[in-house]
Amino acid sequence: MEAMTTITASLIDRGLEDYMLETAMLKVFTTERLWECINDVFQIYGGSAYFADRPLERMMRDARINQIGEGANEVLTSFVALVGMRGPGMEFKEIYDTMVKPTRERGFAKAWTAGKHRLSATVRVPEIPVHSPELRLFANQLGRLIWRFNIAVNRALITYREPILDMQLVQERIANAVMDLFAATCVLSRRDAELQLAQRNGSSSAPEQLAADLFLRQSFRRIRGFLAGLTDNDDKSVLATANSVLGKPAR
Ligand SMILES: Cc1cc2nc3c(=O)[nH]c(=O)nc-3n(C[C@H](O)[C@H](O)[C@H](O)COP(=O)(O)OP(=O)(O)OC[C@H]3O[C@@H](n4cnc5c(N)ncnc54)[C@H](O)[C@@H]3O)c2cc1C
Repeated sequence: MEAMTTITASLIDRGLEDYMLETAMLKVFTTERLWECINDVFQIYGGSAYFADRPLERMMRDARINQIGEGANEVLTSFVALVGMRGPGMEFKEIYDTMVKPTRERGFAKAWTAGKHRLSATVRVPEIPVHSPELRLFANQLGRLIWRFNIAVNRALITYREPILDMQLVQERIANAVMDLFAATCVLSRRDAELQLAQRNGSSSAPEQLAADLFLRQSFRRIRGFLAGLTDNDDKSVLATANSVLGKPAR
C-alpha cells in the first residue's frame, strides 16, 4: 500500500497528466487490503475488539466506508477494466472495420498500425528494468505475467467484443489482475531502490527482504488465478442463479 501510494504520488509530481487509472487502482487495492487487515486484527482481539474504549471498533467502521465512498469499489473496478482496455479495444475495432469494409479511407494503414501494436504485445515479453541482481528473477516473472495479461486481454476483446462493456465478472478479473500487476511493479521498484540505497551507503548486508519477497510471490499467484478464471469459471451458473433468484428470464 505504501509502495503504490508513493509511486502514484511521484507519477503525479513528475507531471503525468492523466492519472485516473493509477489513482483508481490505488483506491480500490488499498481500501480492500486495509479492510482485510482490520478484519484480521478484529478476529485476533476476539470479543474485546467490540469494546468502545478500544480503538478497533472505530477503525472497523472507518475502514469500511473507504470501500463505498469516493467511488464505490465495484464501480471503480469496472472503470479500471474498461478504461484500461479502451486502447486495445479501439485497435481491434480498426482491424475489424477494415476487414468488413476494406475500402474505408486510410483503413488499411490504420488497421496495419493497430495490428502491429496488438501483435507486438502478444509476441514480445516486456523487460522489467531492475538494478539489483537479486531482483532479476522477480522482474522476469513480472514481465512474463504482463505478457500473459496482454494475451488474456486480447482474447477477451476478440471473444466478447462490445458486450464486454456489460460483463462485470470478466471485467473484475481483468481489473484485479492489473491492480496486482501495478502493486507488484511498485513493490519491486521500491525494493530495488532500497537495495541500491543500501549499496551506495556501503552497507554490507542487504536490508530485510522477506516481506517484499512474500508479497511478490503471493501477488504473482493471485494474478495467475485471475487470468485462469477468465477461461475456467462458473459465470454461466452464477448468472443463471442470479436471474432465477431475481425472477428474470434465463439469458
Ligand atoms: C460516512 C459517509 C460520509 C460521506 N461523505 C460524503 C461526502 O463528504 N461527499 C459526498 O459527495 N458523498 C459522501 N458520502 C456518500 C458516498 O459518496 C456514497 O455513499 C457513495 O458514493 C456510494 O453511493 P450510494 O451510497 O448511493 O450507493 P450506490 O451507488 O447505490 O451503491 C450501492 C452498492 O451498489 C454498488 N454499485 C453501484 N453501481 C454499480 C455498478 N454500476 N456496478 C456494480 N456495482 C454497483 C456499489 O458498489 C455499492 O456496493 C458519504 C457517505 C457516508 C456513509
